[in-house]
Amino acid sequence: MIKQVSIIGAGTMGNGIAHVFAMNGFKTTVVDVSEKALEKAQQTIAKNMDRLIAKGTTTEEKKTATLANLSFETSLENGVKNSDLVVEAATENTELKLKIFTQLDTFCKPETILASNTSSISITKIAAATKRAEKVIGMHFMNPVPVMKLVEIIRGYATDNTTTETIMALSKQLSKVPVEVNDYPGFVANRILMPMINESIYTLFEGVAGVEEIDTVMKLGMAHPMGPLQLADFIGLDVCLAILRVLHEGLGNPKYAPCPLLVNMVTAGYLGAKSGEGFYTYTAGSKDLVVSKRWRNN
Ligand code: NAD
Repeated sequence: MIKQVSIIGAGTMGNGIAHVFAMNGFKTTVVDVSEKALEKAQQTIAKNMDRLIAKGTTTEEKKTATLANLSFETSLENGVKNSDLVVEAATENTELKLKIFTQLDTFCKPETILASNTSSISITKIAAATKRAEKVIGMHFMNPVPVMKLVEIIRGYATDNTTTETIMALSKQLSKVPVEVNDYPGFVANRILMPMINESIYTLFEGVAGVEEIDTVMKLGMAHPMGPLQLADFIGLDVCLAILRVLHEGLGNPKYAPCPLLVNMVTAGYLGAKSGEGFYTYTAGSKDLVVSKRWRNN
């Protein structure tokens, strides 16, 4: 029975995951090496609850109860020692995650399930850093976590049925829709999404059409809420490049090779929304979608 949960990493994903667990009644401890990240996460969760109250989808009482379920820790050992489930959402770096899982294996109770929110690192590899590979699983939430319904549940090579069933049931308890997949590069979401984004960048690179034209075709023609180039900016072009490299290397098929334009943009520091410019230009406080001056026709 899962009651006490720990989330490792208080960044974009960690604070969203903590929000969802705490709102659904779980005692939730958020662990981060950065005190600042923990403070920011606490403020973000309170702000997001206020937004839900303003929309009429939750109440002041629910906000108080959610915040009361949350605690914050900088020590990994203290933050996980009583937990029934740990969801790791620290920076996407293989060495870092292997180190965290080795530590979790020693600090957690033997029955604790260890999950990772990684977008692209092999769950099988992460599990092999522990002595409980059958209790290690992928729980890939989508951004923004409180809004997006999907959780991709990734079975590593050694993940057992009990762990998978527990995590599938738990995800439903969080009002999410879990989908079980096997552990191969990119899982399902990024295996399909990233080649589409890469192809949209190639389409621009080869001069087939402009930024707005490509995104409009996919929005209006395929009913996508956001065009692939805008979505790439939102995800971060560095993140897209890293995932494409995982697909290319892991599957050994040249069709996954990242477009040279994507490589150039990342090298030059044009990372999308987070750096202020990618295929579009982002100005703080403005919601207008403005094509980057490098890609305007005039
Ligand atoms: P982020 O950079 O916003 O946050 C990462 C946090 O991890 C930071 O606060 C950092 O201080 C903390 N951290 C680093 N080392 C740590 C350690 N040893 N112990 C505890 N905390 C540590 O990153 P993010 O976008 O929230 O991504 C987190 C994970 O979620 C990654 O694995 C990423 O691939 C995955 N993911 C991201 C998205 C997305 O859209 N951002 C979507 C799905 C999955």
